[in-house]
Amino acid sequence: MIDFLEEVYKRKDKMIEDIQTLCKIPSILDETTANEGQPFGKACRDALDAMLEIGERDGFVCENVDGYAGHIDIGEGEETFGILGHLDVVPCNESGWNSEPYAATLKNGKLYGRGVADDKGPLIAAYYAAKIIHELNLPVKMKTRVIFGCNEENGSKCMQYYFTKKPYPSMGFTPDAEFPVVYGEKAGVNFKIIGEIENDNLIGLYSGNRANIVPEVCEAYLTGSYKQYRESFAEYLSVHQLDGYVEEEGNHTKLVLIGKSAHASTPELGINGAVYMCHYLSTISQNQLVQFIDQYFYNDCYGEKLGIAYTGLMGPLTVNLGVINYKNGHVNMIIDMRVPHEVTDEKLTAKMQKCLNVYGLKETHHLGKALYIDPQSELIQKLHNAYVEFTGDHNHQPQAIGGGTYAKTMPNCVAFGIEFPDSDNKIHQNNEEISIDDLMKATAIYAKAIYDLIKE
Ligand SMILES: [Zn+2]
Repeated sequence: MIDFLEEVYKRKDKMIEDIQTLCKIPSILDETTANEGQPFGKACRDALDAMLEIGERDGFVCENVDGYAGHIDIGEGEETFGILGHLDVVPCNESGWNSEPYAATLKNGKLYGRGVADDKGPLIAAYYAAKIIHELNLPVKMKTRVIFGCNEENGSKCMQYYFTKKPYPSMGFTPDAEFPVVYGEKAGVNFKIIGEIENDNLIGLYSGNRANIVPEVCEAYLTGSYKQYRESFAEYLSVHQLDGYVEEEGNHTKLVLIGKSAHASTPELGINGAVYMCHYLSTISQNQLVQFIDQYFYNDCYGEKLGIAYTGLMGPLTVNLGVINYKNGHVNMIIDMRVPHEVTDEKLTAKMQKCLNVYGLKETHHLGKALYIDPQSELIQKLHNAYVEFTGDHNHQPQAIGGGTYAKTMPNCVAFGIEFPDSDNKIHQNNEEISIDDLMKATAIYAKAIYDLIKE
C-alpha cells in the first residue's frame, strides 16, 4: 500500500518554495506589455517561464507554446493524462491585505497571497502528485502532461490556442474549483435586451454593472415630489425587510433599494435589488419595463414565469437579471442564465422571445457550451473515491455547478478541487489563503486519483 500522504509531506518544503516562486510574479493580464511570445503581457510570460524552469529542474521534458501556455511531460506513454491549471491571477486591492499579496507568506500553517489557491498552489499540488507517481516508479500506461495557461481569468484564450497546436489528452482534470469532483457545468448565456418603451413617470432605473452578479443596489428616478412616495416606499421596505431610502433630487425623486449580491450561478442566495425595486414601482407606475420585470422575475430565479424552468441531471436552470440601464424610454439590460445541457437553444430562444414580444423588447444572445460527464463513469468514480479516501467525507457527492472552468476547453475533463467543502480560500478576494494541511491532503488525493486512472 502506497502512503501518498506521507510521500507528499516529504516534499512539503519544496512545494511551498515552488508556490512562492510562482506567487512572487504578479501575473495579471497586461496588454501594455503584450507582444509576440508574451500575448498576455510580460508578467504572465515570466510566470510561464518560472513554471517551465521548475519542470526542467526536475528533469522533465517541457514546452512553451508561443507564450500562451506550456506543458511538462511526466513519464512515458503514447496516451496522455492531462492536468489543466493556470498561471494568471486577478488583480488585488493591496490596501485590503494583511500581508504582501504577491508573496505566498507562510503564517500559522497557511499560505497567504494572490494565486495560492487560484491557481498556482493547486497547479503545483497536481504537478507534485504526478511527480510522486513518477519518482516511486509506479507502473503506468500513460504519461501525465501538466498543462498551464496564462489567460484563464480573461477568457481562456491560452487553452483555445494551445489546443490548436497540441492534441487533447485522453482525459484529465483541472484543479481550479472545488471538491468533490464537478461532473457538470451548466452553459452560460447572456440575453442582451434592448427596446424603446413609452416614457412616463419613471425617468431612470439603474442596477448592476456585471451580469454575473446579482445586483445589490437599485436606483430609480421618478417625476414629482418625494413626499408622494416616501410613506409607501418605507412601508414596502419594512414589509420585505429591505434597506433603502428616498431622496429629493431637484424636482425629481430618487429611490434607492439595497438587496444582497451573490454570484449569478447561485441567484437564490441573493436579493435582487432591481427586481424588488420593480415590485414596488409596479404599484405606482404603469411603466412597461417595470411591468415586464415584475411579471417575469419577481420571486423567481428559476425561470418559472418566463416558461423556461427546467431541472435536469445537473440541477435547475437559473436566471439572474444582472444589469439594467433605463433612461427616458430607452431600455438596456442583461440577463445571465446558467442552462443545463438538456435545454436547447431553440426552445430557450422561442420562449424568451414570446415574453419579450409582448413588451416590444428585442434580444441577442450566445449560448455557451455545457459540460456533462456521467457521474457513474470511471473518471468521476475514481476521482471521487480518491477524495473520499483522504477525507472520509461520504456526505458530499460529485456535483454540478453553474460556473465555467477550464474543463470546458477539453473533452473528458472535469474540475476537481482544490477548495474543500468547509473551507473558504477567499478566491479573487483580499487575503487569499490555503492551509498547508489542505494543500498536502489535496496533493495526496490528486496522486491517488491520477494513479488509479493511469496504472497498468
Ligand atoms: Zn482559477
